Amino acid sequence: MSMDGRTCLVTGSSKGIGRGIAEDLGSRGANVVVNYRSSEAAAHEVKDTIEDSGGNAITVQADVANMGEVQSMYETVTDTYGNIDVLVNNAGITVDKKFENMTREDWDRVMEVNLGGVFNCTKTCFEDIREAHEGRLINISSVVGQQGNYGQANYATTKSGLFGFTRTIALELARDGSTANCVAPGFVKTDMLADVPDRVKEGILERIPLDRFAEVEDIVSMVTFVAQEQSSYMTGQVLGINGGMEW
Ligand code: NAP
Repeated sequence: MSMDGRTCLVTGSSKGIGRGIAEDLGSRGANVVVNYRSSEAAAHEVKDTIEDSGGNAITVQADVANMGEVQSMYETVTDTYGNIDVLVNNAGITVDKKFENMTREDWDRVMEVNLGGVFNCTKTCFEDIREAHEGRLINISSVVGQQGNYGQANYATTKSGLFGFTRTIALELARDGSTANCVAPGFVKTDMLADVPDRVKEGILERIPLDRFAEVEDIVSMVTFVAQEQSSYMTGQVLGINGGMEW
């Protein structure tokens, strides 16, 4: 799957799933924008890895929840590579609490990053994606948006919110031949899962038919498939990569 010359912005790609996506796209010839909020050293490692594999990358600091920072990031990207072909809205956070203990601040922070960030980045890149040859919007959701999850009312709401958003943007892009899809991972071995207590992880594992948590690479391969031009007839879909979990 070649990504030669396509410019791809992957939000939150200093670590975890985003890092895997950025490195894979870069190794296939894309110009990759490695966005991060605070993990500067990690973002530089991702850039170095991409360059070592023969690809092109820049790092850009921006909090996706801040529209001004997203617009500055966009200007840096377009000055360097020109228009954006592929936006992967990957940056996401959790602030987990039982609903009875969840404050309005806990709710708002997760909304601001997981949905506000998606709005800011999609709004800023929308014309580029629409005008690109085979432009792509890829939103990283979660099986939690499909199933709900104890202690994650805020997070689950943002992740299911992406289904309606993706479907709508797919309709609005369709006339110009660009696509919008959602990738909904199950539970993936990243820092986000590392924060979950062991006894909770054991309970989750019992519900995964394939009897293992996902590796980052399991998710990356689907995102790369969607990002490349040959996925052109697939739009508005929610692609579950979850080891066979029911929802
Ligand atoms: P992670 O390891 O915690 O990495 C999160 C990344 O997002 C980091 O690079 C972080 O950068 C960045 N980020 C966080 N807030 C940001 C902000 N406001 N602006 C810009 N970047 C920001 O998380 P992950 O597990 O890879 O998750 C990535 C995505 O997959 C998320 O949307 C998550 O909801 C989704 N997902 C994860 C799982 C899972 O089990 N891990 C399952 C389903 C879906 P800094 O460190 O610089 O802040």
